Amino acid sequence: MKKLRIDETLYIKTPGFLSEQRIRKGPVAIIECTQDIPCNPCETICPRKAIKIGLPITNPPEIDEAKCSGCGLCVLWCPGLAIFVLNYNFDKIRASLTIPYEMLPLPGKNEKIKCLDRNGKYVCKGKIEKVTPPKKNSRTSLITFSFQKKYFNTVRGFKK
Ligand code: SF4
Ligand code: SF4
Repeated sequence: MKKLRIDETLYIKTPGFLSEQRIRKGPVAIIECTQDIPCNPCETICPRKAIKIGLPITNPPEIDEAKCSGCGLCVLWCPGLAIFVLNYNFDKIRASLTIPYEMLPLPGKNEKIKCLDRNGKYVCKGKIEKVTPPKKNSRTSLITFSFQKKYFNTVRGFKK
């Protein structure tokens, strides 16, 4: 059976898509929620009111990129695992991505990884920078990993 590929241009058309200018400023939420589903925890949890869904609740989330601080709260609360925090300025040559992670065992800090694109295809080498285990009554961890800056809009996951 032919493997279904994710159409990367879908994200560009959503109101959650950010300008490259904002991305270059530092940590910010990347929302890749492309389906019209009845869901809005991201809107209600954001302490800065940076995400707007409104009514009907099936509206796609819209982000006010000037308000977002990249705190990552919405990443933990999104049931669709559709939000990430991208830090373009992790250091001079690397960006970092903080993603929700629900698999076990958790990776370890400094572990070398293979960074993948939205279709699970290998992009580049990376490194685990931070592991935040699940809070009580949750199974979602937050994993921050770094990779070459030039792949900031391509890397969306990793393989151990
Ligand atoms: S990262 Fe924080 S400030 Fe930005 S949209 Fe998510 S919850 Fe709001
Ligand atoms: S919480 Fe996640 S799945 Fe639900 S609307 Fe927000 S981004 Fe989409």
